[in-house]
Amino acid sequence: MKYYSTNHQAPVATLEKAVVKGLAEDRGLYMPEIIKPLPKEFFDNIEKYSFQEIAYTVADAFFGEDVDADALKKIVYDTLAFDCPVVKVEENIYSLELFHGPTLAFKDVGARFMARLLQYFINRPTRNGADETRHTVNVLVATSGDTGSAVANGFLGVDGIHVYVLYPKGKVSKIQESQFTTLGKNITAIEVDGVFDDCQALVKNAFMDAELNEHMRLTSANSINVARFLPQAFYYFNAYAWMKEKALEGNLVMCVPSGNFGNICAALFGHAMGLPVKRFIASNNANDIFYKYLQTGKYEPKPTKQTLANAMDVGDPSNFARIIDLYSREDLRNDSNKEHSTHEVITALISGATYTDEQIKETMRQCHQSTGYILDPHGACGYQALKDNLMPGEIGVFCETAHPAKFKEKVDAIDNIDVEIPERLAAFMKGKKQSIEMSKSFDDFKAFLMKE
Ligand SMILES: *Cc1c(COP(=O)(O)O)cnc(C)c1O
Repeated sequence: MKYYSTNHQAPVATLEKAVVKGLAEDRGLYMPEIIKPLPKEFFDNIEKYSFQEIAYTVADAFFGEDVDADALKKIVYDTLAFDCPVVKVEENIYSLELFHGPTLAFKDVGARFMARLLQYFINRPTRNGADETRHTVNVLVATSGDTGSAVANGFLGVDGIHVYVLYPKGKVSKIQESQFTTLGKNITAIEVDGVFDDCQALVKNAFMDAELNEHMRLTSANSINVARFLPQAFYYFNAYAWMKEKALEGNLVMCVPSGNFGNICAALFGHAMGLPVKRFIASNNANDIFYKYLQTGKYEPKPTKQTLANAMDVGDPSNFARIIDLYSREDLRNDSNKEHSTHEVITALISGATYTDEQIKETMRQCHQSTGYILDPHGACGYQALKDNLMPGEIGVFCETAHPAKFKEKVDAIDNIDVEIPERLAAFMKGKKQSIEMSKSFDDFKAFLMKE
């Protein structure tokens, strides 16, 4: 399979290049040239398959040409060492719980898959017998909290890869910090005396520094990486299987709390492969750029607003480019919409929602009181968008993207409860913090890496 750039100004890439480079030379996002529809027989029998079997079928459609079947199967099965169950919250509203992985958020799926795929490429013998790809690959990741923990845990113990997590000192919660500073092994946490943007600048400068790139192989595990976002399609197929098993799959609406739009983009790729979901809702916090785009057809990025659902605080969602590209593609049009504009095709399938912090709090309280279900602030946006937009006869599934205990202080205060901390989260918090202190100067960071 070849991958082209959404900016169409870069050469097409192999899967390996797309995974190792992340971003195309023209700063565009990689897109698979072909999106294979899955056979009707697969959907007719989907409820008989396990999550891993479903995921492997989806993975094979994207990666089967480029990864040996046995290796791909192992990558998929290792990635999905946990379940993504669908739970009934109330009549017609179901929660797709994506928080049963090691760091209690959906990013675990993509991060674990990417780590294993990267390892596969590193260990694969090169064609000319040279072993230049066998050197350790160093993943640099800047985090404001959640990405660092998913990437660090996803790559933990994976041979041939070393991860450096850069995070702003004093700016991430203790729970988040413990998830990437207590791991040891191939994970180095770097506590930067600065803000998130300083961490990101250090990483960007490192990628551009010729001497450093000569010294060590560097790569990023950014969420725009095809190996991180495509595997997120797995659980949408599995959710459909769950609903079908209960004969509830007829008029499905899938609602995704969205920030950078990677998660919903994976769902839309699933739809393009034939996943029978009737329509989608992208639910936003106060960062309403996509919502406005749906209303007006204009995309106007804005500075990020800080909200209660902070993993969705994005003012210029990267994957917007993928959504536009997807619905501009002629191979995905049919007779009924081939004359329609991209905006028309998008609004026919996807609607939006946007919620203030006050509304998110009210939703969390109301849902807990009337159903007993504890929402986290991100999932709350998804739940409320279904409450507000479901039409008669439709059944909604929203993604609960993180465990409420990840935001314990907020959730406890809002719902007036004491959320139980899952054992695997408590275990991180008992671990010993190991981190390296760093100034925000690139010279210091470079000097440190040159000694590694
Ligand atoms: C990252 C994240 C989101 C946003 O997902 P995108 O793929 O960026 O749209 C939503 N909720 C949680 C808890 C997250 O960590």
